[in-house]
Amino acid sequence: MPSNSETNAVRGAGEREDAARVVVVGGGLAGLELAAALSDQGVEDVLVLEAGPGEDLDHIHRAHPRDRATELVFAPERDPYFRRPWDSASAPHYTGISGLRRRLGGRSLYWHGVVLPLEDWALATPWWPADVVADLTRSWQGGPSLYERVGADLAEWSGTAPEGAAGQQARTFGGQPFRPLPRACRQVPGDDRWEAYSALDRWRGEDGTAVPPPGVRVRCGTEVLAVDVRDGAVRGVLVRDPATGSGSIAADTVVLCAGTVESTRLAVQALTTAGKLAAPRLGGLADHIVQGFVVRLPAAPPGAARHVPDPGSYYVPTDPATRSYLRMDVQPAGDGELLLDVRTTGEQLPNPDSVVEVLTAAGPAGPARVRTALRPEDHEVIEAQRTVLRDFWHAVATELGTDPVPMEFTGFGDPGRDNTAVLPERIGSQRVGVPETWTSLLGTEDHEGGTLPLGDVLTSRHEFAGLPGLYAAGPAVFPRLGAANPSLTALALSRRLAAFLAGAA
Ligand SMILES: Cc1cc2nc3c(=O)[nH]c(=O)nc-3n(C[C@H](O)[C@H](O)[C@H](O)COP(=O)(O)OP(=O)(O)OC[C@H]3O[C@@H](n4cnc5c(N)ncnc54)[C@H](O)[C@@H]3O)c2cc1C
Repeated sequence: MPSNSETNAVRGAGEREDAARVVVVGGGLAGLELAAALSDQGVEDVLVLEAGPGEDLDHIHRAHPRDRATELVFAPERDPYFRRPWDSASAPHYTGISGLRRRLGGRSLYWHGVVLPLEDWALATPWWPADVVADLTRSWQGGPSLYERVGADLAEWSGTAPEGAAGQQARTFGGQPFRPLPRACRQVPGDDRWEAYSALDRWRGEDGTAVPPPGVRVRCGTEVLAVDVRDGAVRGVLVRDPATGSGSIAADTVVLCAGTVESTRLAVQALTTAGKLAAPRLGGLADHIVQGFVVRLPAAPPGAARHVPDPGSYYVPTDPATRSYLRMDVQPAGDGELLLDVRTTGEQLPNPDSVVEVLTAAGPAGPARVRTALRPEDHEVIEAQRTVLRDFWHAVATELGTDPVPMEFTGFGDPGRDNTAVLPERIGSQRVGVPETWTSLLGTEDHEGGTLPLGDVLTSRHEFAGLPGLYAAGPAVFPRLGAANPSLTALALSRRLAAFLAGAA
């Protein structure tokens, strides 16, 4: 077993570790939370393998001014860390801005910090296993629930009240009782920049380099090519390291945290090698169905009060039948104008025809191809969301005494009217009082999940039912997505998994 000084280190490509007790594949939002929680539980000899570099540890909204950070997200060809290690058989879905941010921290260095628990209707059986739901929502290890614990920790990190947005009064606007959107974010002192939570924050040394917690090593620049499966058991991982070429790292426990598509590629490869899959694919891939509009509101006449909520982010769940929630961002747009950025986020149901498949011409560790398909119930969500958005805009325009210009949508998945509508150059050219609608392409919300569901492909203890020793974390393990953004649940489940691996649960 390595000594503490050896374990507590970030290494670059070329420095070899040949064995670990637990290998975590991917140092993004879920993998880093898992590694930190394993350290908290006293587990030693944890090795995080991250394909990207580990020198730049800042959230994009801390490192860059707002317009530049927005560009990095919505014009990813300008982001040196952007990679899409899959091909889409359902273009334009899972193309464009859909991809990974290959760096230590992953998308935890890009996310907006929106932390909403999954809705009761989504957590209802038979989808989510009852023991997981109880741990998330009722009580975990005899104390507060995981949602309560993680919520309290994130509120403390953000410097907000522990009860968060739930404790704040609703503000009715456009007929909707909005509450402030709960976000795990904090301002950079003395600056207008901000950052969202990342477990990496706990690892940032005084000189800005990463110092992992005790018991954890991180090896950057190391891409995991395949899970090493022999005689029906997990033996470790096979890696590509640009300095040393290929190699293997032995471990009895391997946790896939490489983002949904890449974790699923590795799972398909491992299960195929173990003879547990009839065909090299897993279904259930889902992202959120998101549509919205952006509108510039004219400046109020001099002396007149305008009853628009203060600049900020707000949300309200819509009727459960819509499987969605409504979000509104209010921003000053210069010369007294305001920009309303309104969106509905809803659930795409898991679908056996939405798959991650592995192209196995050259063996089971081939590249991934993604295929997505909407179910009839998803088309109903799309129509219901459009009604919510139209009704809301009509109510807002009436309330503000402006003309409720009819709101037109094009087909869902129109790449000419997608969520890049928020790019600064597009907003600047928009006509005042005329809402511009958009729909997100599937895969571009970065909420993709559902391919390795707990209680099905995985046991409710996060272990592959067909392959002991192999585990997974991240939104991939959600049996269904609900409407809420996934990260609060992903962080909670990483902690839950750490307790199982530490033998503490
Ligand atoms: C702009 C933006 C805003 C968002 N806002 C929100 C929000 O407000 N709320 C919310 O809940 N969610 C939000 N998300 C989504 C959230 O960030 C993701 O759901 C979350 O990061 C997924 O976690 P993950 O660990 O599964 O994947 P990631 O964070 O992407 O981490 C995966 C890691 O694995 C590494 N990796 C991949 N393949 C390999 C391999 N073969 N070998 C080694 N390493 C590998 C990657 O480089 C990466 O570091 C947002 C995302 C983006 C991009």
